Amino acid sequence: MREVRIDERDFADEGALGAYLEEELDLPAGSLVSLAALEGRLDGICEPTHVTIVRPIWNRATWFDKVSTVFERASGGNFYLTVDVNSEDPADSVEAHASAEAALRRLREGNEQYVGAHHANGDVSDELISRLFEEGQHPFACVISCSDARVVPEHIFMCGLGEIFCIRTAGNIVGPSELASAVYACAHLHTPLLLVLGHTHCGAIDAAMHGGSRGPVGFITSKISETIGEELDPLKAAEKNVRAGMATLSADRDLAALVDAGELEIRGALYLTHSGRVSFLE
Ligand SMILES: [Zn+2]
Repeated sequence: MREVRIDERDFADEGALGAYLEEELDLPAGSLVSLAALEGRLDGICEPTHVTIVRPIWNRATWFDKVSTVFERASGGNFYLTVDVNSEDPADSVEAHASAEAALRRLREGNEQYVGAHHANGDVSDELISRLFEEGQHPFACVISCSDARVVPEHIFMCGLGEIFCIRTAGNIVGPSELASAVYACAHLHTPLLLVLGHTHCGAIDAAMHGGSRGPVGFITSKISETIGEELDPLKAAEKNVRAGMATLSADRDLAALVDAGELEIRGALYLTHSGRVSFLE
């Protein structure tokens, strides 16, 4: 089996990739000047060939999107061609891009993919499990979200193991346990981004807006009621609840020190349950 590995980071443009593939696939020099030319050539492969395409998690090039598509389409019709598209090891990317700005970009890109996807594509491979076991976790973001079964941060942002330090409570409230968990993630694991992720059609907020609950659940609804006051608009109430969580986190001495040192950003967002999109608050 002929093995061909294409790492997106090795190629500046179509021409550079074409020259590399001409050699790897035994094609005449100058025959792969464009992706359109490549598409025609892949049908003619009759030596068993396995292509691995590696894409960075960060800073993916738009032109390279077509490369994956061309190979995947061709492999469907060519018996001799098999293709895997993998993401680079997330632990590497975190070390290389440990900033809140990069983390936010990663979340935005992941959510873009999620909105059009049928399956989550986070890395849960044996290799990654082993590596995380040996090297420990280096999540790039800490996310406090609602426990609502529709609001699953790893899916929403297309993340795999070891990428998001996730704290979930009904109504994404920030009480003592959530605050302590967030401080652990940001101060000890050095996550550069702390995101409070609320959502639309939240049952906890709805309950708080309609008189609250009794018993143990009342702890959550009364905490939400304190922050949303008399608000009657569910969307505005959800946003107020997120901002209250952000304020609680910002008031913590350890987290505030990290923010002041430029090592942490605290942000808020709302997950729109009807579309799957995440709207980041300014
Ligand atoms: Zn909820």
